[in-house]
Formats: sequence, C-alpha cells, structure tokens
Amino acid sequence: MEQKPHIALLPSPGMGHLIPLVELAKLLLLHHDFHITCIIPVLGSPSKAMKAVLQALPTSIDHVFLPPVILEEEEIKGLKHGVQAMLTLTRSLPPLRDVLTSTRFSAFVVDPFGIDALDIAKELNISPYIFFPSNAFALSLVLHLPKLDKTVSCEYRDLPEPVKLPGCIPIHGRDLLEPVQDRTSELYKMFLTSTKRYRLAEGIIVNTFMELEGSAIKALLDEEAKNLPLFPVGPIQSGSSNQVDKSESDCLRWLDNQPHGSVLFVCFGSGGTLSYEQTNELALGLELSGQKFIWVVRTPNNESADATYLSDQTLGNNPLAFLPKGFVERTKGQGLVVPFWAPQAQVLCHGSTGGFLTHCGWNSTLESIMQGIPLIVWPLFAEQKMNAAFLADDLKVALRPKTNKNGLIDREEIAKVVKGLMVGEEGKKVHNRMKDIKIAAEKALNADGSSTKALSKLATQWKNHPDF
Ligand code: UDP
Repeated sequence: MEQKPHIALLPSPGMGHLIPLVELAKLLLLHHDFHITCIIPVLGSPSKAMKAVLQALPTSIDHVFLPPVILEEEEIKGLKHGVQAMLTLTRSLPPLRDVLTSTRFSAFVVDPFGIDALDIAKELNISPYIFFPSNAFALSLVLHLPKLDKTVSCEYRDLPEPVKLPGCIPIHGRDLLEPVQDRTSELYKMFLTSTKRYRLAEGIIVNTFMELEGSAIKALLDEEAKNLPLFPVGPIQSGSSNQVDKSESDCLRWLDNQPHGSVLFVCFGSGGTLSYEQTNELALGLELSGQKFIWVVRTPNNESADATYLSDQTLGNNPLAFLPKGFVERTKGQGLVVPFWAPQAQVLCHGSTGGFLTHCGWNSTLESIMQGIPLIVWPLFAEQKMNAAFLADDLKVALRPKTNKNGLIDREEIAKVVKGLMVGEEGKKVHNRMKDIKIAAEKALNADGSSTKALSKLATQWKNHPDF
C-alpha cells in the first residue's frame, strides 16, 4: 500500500501558536492526504485550554507531548514570554530529535520560536518549513531586519522618520516588533540571529492572504523572499465549531439573550495583561459607555503586559477580585465578566456580538475578520503595535483609543471610543469596511481562491519531495 507523506508540526508554547498550527493540520487533512503529527513542547504543565484543543483533534491527527520543561522561578523572572518559549524549545531539542528520528517524516514545520529545531530536520534530511503565525507586514520586518541592522545606527525608536518596509505602510520605529525595541538587549541579539536563519527553510507558510496584503506579499516575493517560497494560506483561524465546556457555554447563553450586534467583546488574547490602574480604568470606562460587553478578565500585573501566559490559572488567583468595588453588581445586565478564558471564536460568530476590543494578536484579528466584526485596537506586546497601525491606519477597520500623558487610557477615552464603535457614525464606517474584508477573506478560501491555491502548491511541493 502506498504510504502517505508524514508531516511533523512543532508549535511553540502558547495558545496563539498552537491554535493556528492545529488548524493548518486540519486544513491539510481536509484537502490533501497527509499523515500529520503535532509534536508539543510544554513549559510546566499543559493548560486546560491547550488540552482541550488537543483532545478535540480528529483521530487522524496524532499528537505527542515532549517531556515538560521545568524552568525555576528564578530562571524565568523578568523573562518575556517569547524568551521563555525559545528556552523551552531549546531544552526540548534532545527529545525532539528522538521523535524526528523514530519515524520517516517528509516535512517538518516550526513556528518562529522553533527556528533552532530546523538544524535537526536538515541533518535528518526532512524538509524544513516555517509557519509564520502573523502577517506579511511583520514577516517583512523579520526578513529585512539584518539589512536594517546594518544601515541604521541608532535605536529604531529614535529614528526621526517612519521605517518604510516595501509594500507596507510606513511605521514609526517605536511601533515595530517588541524584540527590536532595545538593540543592546540579549533579546534583540537572539532575535536578529534567528531572522538570519529563516533562509534555512525551504518555504514560509504565512497566515495572511493576497486580498488583504497583496502589496506586502508581492514586495516580499520581489525582494527578500525571492529564493524563499512563500505560501500565504490564511486566514487560518480557530474553528467556531470547537466544543466548549460548561463554564464557557454560560457566556454563550448570556449572549443569546442580548440584542443583535449589541455586545462588545473585550479580550487580550491568551497572555495579555493590564496594570492595576489600567484594569480599573477599563472597568469604569466600560461602565460609563453604557454599552453591553463581555470582558475576559485577567489578574492585573504592573510589571508585564504578557504575564498571563504562565501564571493566571495555575496560580489560582481570582481576577474578578481586582475589579473596582461594586462594579460587577452595578453592571449586571449591562455586561458579563468572565475570568481567564472565553470561547472567543464562538463569541465572535454569535449574532449578538457587534464589536471587539482586542490586543491585536493576529489570531484574534483574523477571527474577527472572518466574522466581519469591527475592532477597537489596544496593542500590548509582540508585533501588536504593527497590527494596530495596519488595522486602524491602513485597512481602516478599527478605532484606536488615545493614551494620556501618564501612559494610561483613561475611562472617558474608553467610554468615548466604545460608544463610537458600537453606536457612532465612525463605528458604522469601520464596520462596513470590515464587511468588505470578510468577503475578501471568504473569497481567498474558496475552492479556487488564492489561499486554497497556495495550500495546494505547498502540498504538491511536499508530495514531490525527492525522498518520498
Ligand atoms: N482565545 C480564546 N479565549 C480567550 C483568549 C484567547 O479562545 O479567552 C484564543 C483566541 O480565539 C485566539 C488565541 O486564543 O485564537 C489567541 O491568539 P492571538 O494571536 O490573538 O493572541 P496571543 O494569545 O498569541 O497573544
């Protein structure tokens, strides 16, 4: 019997990486005949959300956990989530090698935190690929970084003029990816080194689509990615048909009883965290707006905007305890606060949801695009400021609240922007544009759409692998 090509996928720790890679696996299975194994590195123990995603995989997609990496508290203190993810990957390399040696894989796909694992694939003659879980704008920065590093002598944030990446909107240096914000840091050096290694891959799969970022994609193909096949296969996003557990379905039931398009969903991804003061202002701003909301609340943290990746649920904190006194009672009927996690994909496709206040994680953005839901952009870390600029200034599908001189978005500003999106004229305009983009996204995913073609091209490349 003819054997199917066997593809290994390695998502780095974090739901924002696991979810799109798992969805890519499902798409590959749906349209092309592959055997797929997800190899899962874990920092500490897998979260409830992670286990739920893996347990819901179709039986034809295998998954194997690598031995959990334990990092001492001292070791991870002050380390950004991205560095923790890279460290987890580095420590998982020996058992990963064992898995990759144990079976004959045709291709091996890593995300940007797993670039170091590409060497093992090369050595074992497995075709290495990168899955870039963000957009062509961010990929463009990554591939241009070695050049920028040579030509710019100051910190990028001190550049007087915006940075112009080919085919992309000009972007101020202070809004570039977070790891490039301090060129003297270890993080910058690690990041720069990894950007040079992208060329080890035989192709980059990117979670965007031609109709959304045609000019950035074309510019990449003309220049930086001339010899590096690009596969814009997006939007790949979390299935709204995924199962939800009892506590999660409470939130969908609440939505069932709200008027059409009346609810603002407020969520900062899987790791986004606000300071104590900002949490307080957001609560009071939502209340002041008078608009309906569902807010996924996290325990505040004054040190780190991505603190929730590791701590919240495992520490057993109750995030609702940090909300202003009497807030939950006063807003009963107006809003619902959900601790830790909500079934976002299902919330966004519910008819009662009419807006999304987001940290601009790329998965969240694509999930909103697929439902035609307009945005309020509130970027926190990673490439989110680039995404926010793209969404608000280029695509014009989002409103952006202003920060005051203390770096805070105050309650009056929040109330103003929330009302603007949900019931204002400006909200109508961004909503209409978002509807157009939703249609373009659906077109890209049609049987003869640009993303479906790109996925077929990738599948053909894998099936034609000389060793197969
Ligand atoms: N997510 C969810 N419920 C939550 C928070 C997040 O289902 O309460 C999902 C969301 O739908 C998305 C992913 O987690 O698929 C977050 O990815 P994104 O790229 O937006 O942000 P990140 O977590 O990587 O910062």
